[in-house]
Amino acid sequence: MGATQQVNTTYQRIPPYVEIMDSTLRDGEQTNGVSFLPHEKLVMARKLLLDLNIDRIEVASARVSEGERQAVSKICAFARKAGRIGRVEVLGFVDGGQSIDWIAGCGAQVVNLLAKGSLKHCTQQLHKTPEQHIADICRELDYAARKGISVNLYLEDWSNGMKDSPEYVYQMMDALTADSLPVKIRRFMLPDTLGVMNPLQVIEYFRKMMKRYPDQHFDFHAHNDYDLAVSNSLAAVLSGAKGLHVTVNGLGERCGNAPLASVQAILKDQFHAKTSIVESQLNDLSRMVESFSGISVAPNQPIVGENVFTQVAGVHADGDSKDKLYYNELIPERFGRKREYALGKNSGRANIAKNLEELGLELTPEQTRRVTERITQLGDRKEIVTQDDLPYIVSDVLKHDGMEEHVRLVSYMVSTTYGLKPGANVRVEINGQQYEAGATGDGQYDAFVKALRYIYKKYLGRTFPILANYQVSIPPGGRTDALVQTVISWHYRGGLLRTRGLDADQTEAAIKATFKMLNIVENDMLKSQAEREQKN
Ligand SMILES: [Zn+2]
Repeated sequence: MGATQQVNTTYQRIPPYVEIMDSTLRDGEQTNGVSFLPHEKLVMARKLLLDLNIDRIEVASARVSEGERQAVSKICAFARKAGRIGRVEVLGFVDGGQSIDWIAGCGAQVVNLLAKGSLKHCTQQLHKTPEQHIADICRELDYAARKGISVNLYLEDWSNGMKDSPEYVYQMMDALTADSLPVKIRRFMLPDTLGVMNPLQVIEYFRKMMKRYPDQHFDFHAHNDYDLAVSNSLAAVLSGAKGLHVTVNGLGERCGNAPLASVQAILKDQFHAKTSIVESQLNDLSRMVESFSGISVAPNQPIVGENVFTQVAGVHADGDSKDKLYYNELIPERFGRKREYALGKNSGRANIAKNLEELGLELTPEQTRRVTERITQLGDRKEIVTQDDLPYIVSDVLKHDGMEEHVRLVSYMVSTTYGLKPGANVRVEINGQQYEAGATGDGQYDAFVKALRYIYKKYLGRTFPILANYQVSIPPGGRTDALVQTVISWHYRGGLLRTRGLDADQTEAAIKATFKMLNIVENDMLKSQAEREQKN
């Protein structure tokens, strides 16, 4: 009981509104190999601020390059017009006012000042005492105030600071929250710079911070080195953090930051927290950043991954159309996406029916059954048949609808051996009787047809139409490895007879087309035979 109560009180501490700061354009750009062009940064900033309605964006580090200055200036000009300039933030350094000048020169109004959050960083990197560092920061604050720039402050390496030198962290905080400061620091941003924390530590350290400085606004800035960025972000919010730092697609140095879409979904669904995010824009934004960064999102990445709204198992599609049995709150439409039903060996009739419905194809239950059977056969050998392949499969199945199968392939083997002609062994059943033969040819299919001709000639004393043309195509939109369509034209009764075969394998597709032809011929033959007998 005690444990439950504790969890409940923890929940009550979630701020009703969680502020989200996206750092795709700053921390995200620190991903190895990623460099955004100024116009790309502008387009992403627009998307984030206008379409997504995000609270804050961090768009650059000050003084990095001339290109960066252009990008920040453009973003600021746009944001000012859009009335959102207060949401644009730039990382700045404790550098005697140079960063502040740079930021003000670009037209930005907020600096995210990078200060040291661990004693180690302070003494070993800056070679300063805490008192010297604090004095430097205060001069920076004073200068920012005079320039009309408001200040948020990073305590870099805060996670290690809390672990190894909490007294240093408190010394910094005590000094930087003092009433005597020239300007109040608006937010303290606590980064797990090296991504070393776990959620229990986040809770412990955040509670300590909250207890000592209950009136301060704390952001948490996670890194994903242990795949805990999202969990740690939530732990921070549960412990009183008012803001979270994220990046689109989790871009960022090493293993990246907490991914925006995941953080948003969990905050909303699991903790009923409010954010400003327009969720239906998340997928679009993810695709945009994927394209500009050149870093692909894993297909199984929650919310924005290629496959996450694709149902493969038929039982799920069935549940979808019945009582939404397999729905969770992660409904694709929420994120500007659509649920897709993959067709494969696991797709049941309901799944296929869903796909047919989306294509506007109406089939009888019997036809649906046969299409399903066909997809299952295909899926046994290749992974997935997409919706784009479906019309081809349907017409393949329905083309020879109702035709009796007098000629049936029982089994076959084709072979290619180095230095030898391709060979084929074929066993067929023609009007209930089985025959077998082997042949070699110029290719596997050629050998196959030669063996068939041999059977027809030797056992039935007749032949079948000669091949006139042979075309292989991949259905448009289909995956290259999924399906091949073969259309064969045959010289038949003074004209051309065309049959099609569809399969994952080219030879198999040609064989299918051949057997369709043989059945048409056989049916015609039996029909005229019956007519002759009737006449006699
Ligand atoms: Zn970072």
